[in-house]
Amino acid sequence: MVLRKPNFLLDENLNRLAKWLRLLGYDAAVYKSISFHNAIRLANREHRIFLTRSRKLATSNQKFSRRLIMSVDHRDQLKELNDIVTVKEEYLFSRCILCNKKLFDISKEKIKELIPEFVYESLDEFKLCRKCGRIFWKGSHYKAIKKELKYLLTV
Ligand SMILES: [Zn+2]
Repeated sequence: MVLRKPNFLLDENLNRLAKWLRLLGYDAAVYKSISFHNAIRLANREHRIFLTRSRKLATSNQKFSRRLIMSVDHRDQLKELNDIVTVKEEYLFSRCILCNKKLFDISKEKIKELIPEFVYESLDEFKLCRKCGRIFWKGSHYKAIKKELKYLLTV
C-alpha cells in the first residue's frame, strides 16, 4: 500500500507517461535537457522517483530513488507502475496534463465565453490551470479515460 502519494521526475522520452500520471493527479515533472547529475539532485531535493528508460541511469550506484521503465508503449509503461500508482477519484483531473501545475476550481459563469455551450449547460464543475489558462471539465472523454486508467492499473 502506498502511504504517501509519490512525486516523479521523468526522462524527456517519457513525456506521454508523464501526461498520464498527471491525469491521475501525480506530480510528474519532465525537465528538458538537464544533465544526469542535475536530475539526481532534483530527484533527491524534491523527493521524486526518477523514471527512466536508460539502463545505465537506472543501475547507477549514486543514491536516488529510481525506476527503470522497460516498455515502449505508454500504456504498458503505466502498468509497470501499478504497485505505486493508483486511480483515486478525488485526484483525477487535479493537475494540468501539460504544465504539471495544480488546477483550481473556477465558476462556470466566469468562463462562459470560453467553453462550448452544451458543456456550459450540462456541467457545473470546471478547473483552470493558472499557468497555461486551459480549462478542464469532466466531459464524455472523462469516463472513457477513467475506465482505461482503472483497467491498466488493476490487471
Ligand atoms: Zn497548464
